[in-house]
Amino acid sequence: MAEVLVVVEASQASGVKKVTLEMLTIARSLGSVSAVVLGGPGAAAELAGKLGEYGAEKIYAAESDEIDGYLVAPKATVVAELVKRIQPAAVLLGSTQEGKEIAGRLAVKLENGLLVDAVEVAGDGTATQVVFAGSTIVKSRVTKGVPIITIRPNSVTPAPQAATPAVEQLTVVASDTDKLTKVVERVAEQKGSRPELSEASIVVSGGRGVGNADNFKLVEETADLLGAAVGASRAAVDSGYYPHQFQVGQTGKTVSPQLYLALGISGAIQHRAGMQTSKTIVAVNKDAEAPIFELADFGVVGDLFKVVPQANDEIRKR
Ligand code: FAD
Repeated sequence: MAEVLVVVEASQASGVKKVTLEMLTIARSLGSVSAVVLGGPGAAAELAGKLGEYGAEKIYAAESDEIDGYLVAPKATVVAELVKRIQPAAVLLGSTQEGKEIAGRLAVKLENGLLVDAVEVAGDGTATQVVFAGSTIVKSRVTKGVPIITIRPNSVTPAPQAATPAVEQLTVVASDTDKLTKVVERVAEQKGSRPELSEASIVVSGGRGVGNADNFKLVEETADLLGAAVGASRAAVDSGYYPHQFQVGQTGKTVSPQLYLALGISGAIQHRAGMQTSKTIVAVNKDAEAPIFELADFGVVGDLFKVVPQANDEIRKR
């Protein structure tokens, strides 16, 4: 069975990222699953259990201070060497800032074809991509070399399937050009009690209709009653109502929760690009013509400052 290589994304705070579990799930439908861990010394041992739970049969451990201490260049070099050696059927990376940068460098180094933002990969390597802010779906296939494909977070539901991975240590050789940019400081995102936005099963988002930063407390109140993450439209972020790390959309995060509440959000195409795959969408907007209602499963036409406190009271009673 062909080997499919998943480039693992993980963080010190939360371990293996959800997008990695999604990639492992997709990889299992394409062949036997290998995962390459790129981190400091000991990184692979910490992640092996979780990677095995989701079907990784082999783990390549690229561990060194250089991998950990420099930006993506040494990672791209080590993955390129590995791909040359094992010639996998495909390489999957997350459609994240880091995943896309490694993918681009990898494609140049190997002179291979690259497909980004895939939501699905068929057995013959055909990738389904969502383009133009989600308005168009394209099916593409790499015609040269090992396909390098980045997977959009929240494209599939991660499904466990236990395996006991064998671990192989890789030798990391970083060239001088790989070390042109260095990590000088890492500042962890402030982690509150709410779930991480792109991994939450319920998201409550506020838009410009929320009016100001103080009013966002109402959005937070609803989120806390539901155990949800808080999101925001770009207009709300640009107006200073809520921090950028919570922006949902084309230039923000992609979410795909079971339930998405859009409060005072018009539903512009760039916002939809980040939330339209949510399972159930509920919108509250005072304008019955707002485009968000074209997408919503349930809509309330009304003033969010009247509707939301009543909804919160009802939730509290349950
Ligand atoms: P508005 O469009 O101003 O809508 C506010 C809504 O609130 C209105 O529908 C109004 O009826 C309603 N409202 C007002 N008061 C109330 C009330 N009291 N009760 C109920 N409803 C009320 N946007 C994103 O969100 N994410 C992105 O990542 C993103 N990326 C972009 C990238 C590019 C290149 C560009 C050009 C734009 C991008 N945008 C993005 C911006 C996008 O086009 C919209 O401008 C933005 O989504 C609008 O945000 P909004 O719906 O909160 O604001």
